[in-house]
Amino acid sequence: MYRTHTCGELRMEHVGKQVTLAGWVQRVRKMGSLTFVDLRDRYGITQLVASDQDSKELNDIVASLGREYVIQAKGVVEERSSKNAKMDTGDIELRLMQVNILNKSVTPPFTIEDNSDGGEDIRAQYRYLDLRRNPLRKAIELRHKMGIEARKYLSSIGFLEIETPFLIKSTPEGARDFVVPSRMNPGQFYALPQSPQTFKQLLMVAGYDKYFQIVRCFRDEDLRADRQPEFTQIDCEMSFVEREDILQTFEGMIKHMFKTILGKEFNEPFLRMSYADAMEYYGCDKPDIRFGMKMHTITSLVQGAGFSVFDNAQYVGAIAAPGCADYSRKQLDALTEWVKRPQIGAAGLVYIKWGADGIKSSVDKFFSPEKVKEIALAAEAKEGDLVLILCGAKKKMQAALGALRLEMGARLGYRDNSVYAPLWVTDFPLLEWDDQTSRFYAMHHPFTAPKPEDMDKFYSNKKEDLELVNANAYDFVLNGTEVGGGSIRIHDSNVQERMFEVLGMTKEQAESRFGFIINAFKFGAPPHGGLAFGFDRFCALFGGQETIRDYIAFPKNNQGRDVMLDAPSGIDDVQMDELFIKSTAPVK
Ligand code: ASP
Repeated sequence: MYRTHTCGELRMEHVGKQVTLAGWVQRVRKMGSLTFVDLRDRYGITQLVASDQDSKELNDIVASLGREYVIQAKGVVEERSSKNAKMDTGDIELRLMQVNILNKSVTPPFTIEDNSDGGEDIRAQYRYLDLRRNPLRKAIELRHKMGIEARKYLSSIGFLEIETPFLIKSTPEGARDFVVPSRMNPGQFYALPQSPQTFKQLLMVAGYDKYFQIVRCFRDEDLRADRQPEFTQIDCEMSFVEREDILQTFEGMIKHMFKTILGKEFNEPFLRMSYADAMEYYGCDKPDIRFGMKMHTITSLVQGAGFSVFDNAQYVGAIAAPGCADYSRKQLDALTEWVKRPQIGAAGLVYIKWGADGIKSSVDKFFSPEKVKEIALAAEAKEGDLVLILCGAKKKMQAALGALRLEMGARLGYRDNSVYAPLWVTDFPLLEWDDQTSRFYAMHHPFTAPKPEDMDKFYSNKKEDLELVNANAYDFVLNGTEVGGGSIRIHDSNVQERMFEVLGMTKEQAESRFGFIINAFKFGAPPHGGLAFGFDRFCALFGGQETIRDYIAFPKNNQGRDVMLDAPSGIDDVQMDELFIKSTAPVK
């Protein structure tokens, strides 16, 4: 037997017992006549101790130990003379009798400690060493627990976990596909699924009315910050449901996960907000509602006073930052520079300071003191607050003000990662017009049903009508992050065909790309709907972290590369020939 206990297990009750531990040497330090070894495994760290009085053989072995050596240590558990309250095993130590070196280690390229001295690149290259560190171990354990709890909950209410294929047909709608050449079908390619969307709908047609799967998805997108080309979803679908059934079922799952994993109970139903309100009051479709500081449209209130910047703007909006009336000139200048950055894109910033000594603004020349106060009140400001105003093109400035709101919220400490504010956002537009390609795209995906009351507009050939069609779609948003999204689906083959037509496909194109699903809908497709959660991000949020990378055992870097494997990489000519492919990439 390699070990009788783990390195995180021994306590006072074990004092006097002879035990054997196995693990990695974290560090060795000599203090007077004693040598201490910290031995680490997945479960914790236990202090081992040898004395100069012990045998020479034992002392020689202990002296030869290097960082990350794998050893087996036999000894007797003793009470420590100086206890360490910070360690779970800090009351005891293991008085060594025997040490076996199971494997040596070369010196690791960075320290395996909570705060490692290794930079991101080197840690990615030696991911298996990075994974030995506590923060990553905790992240991976949390992920495991979240998967288990989701499975337990869904299974307890009758869901079946069903696997769907990874080698599928390329359907260029949505993100770009990763493709896989088929050796047995020269010149033909599979695609890796961007999600199991069509399969789960076919499972509904097949009668499996409650489906889920914790499943890998693949999207060949330009990598924005903290996106992975392969990521995991908790993917779900149900039949004979309306939106309300879906929201309640999955609110139940989320609450179960909060309770079992974080010990947090949500007794009230999650808040709900329409897409239109989210844009109006938060400037984005995934509001962070951990704090207020709502946006207010003040366009009509401020226009007509002769201040041309406002008068010429399509939109003027304001927020009130609590307690910030004492912002200095310098702070305001810095904030102005912040909103002028290209990512935010505002032309400037107008402010109103509501101090104890009265109200001052950067537009006092144009507005009477009463009017300035009226504007401040419209932004829901009170004494002590700073009102920040942006103006310009509506969509762009709503987004800019939304970003400013988040920035101020962060500065004011309102975005505490241990606080959770869940939200359903509903009633998204069905379609998005793209000027460049001069066509509509599905805002969610082409299987999303229009709202029944918008059916007339859905069949209209006018762009203005189609733009107004709402979708029976919903997102689950947690702390300003979209964690899940889904919709009630189209289940009528005629409506589905109309959808492809609206998206600019000919009948033939729709038939060749999606004929399988249009056809399936002719064989008694039940009304159905579902959603999918971004599992990696869900885990990161539960872990109180911003980035998903720590929650994936072997992630890719920002360029979509696995630096440990050095992938992607070229393949040799024989393999290329076998697959009937040729590269046109420039030779490096
Ligand atoms: N398949 C969708 C997605 O990946 C989710 C859904 O509609 O269920 O976003």
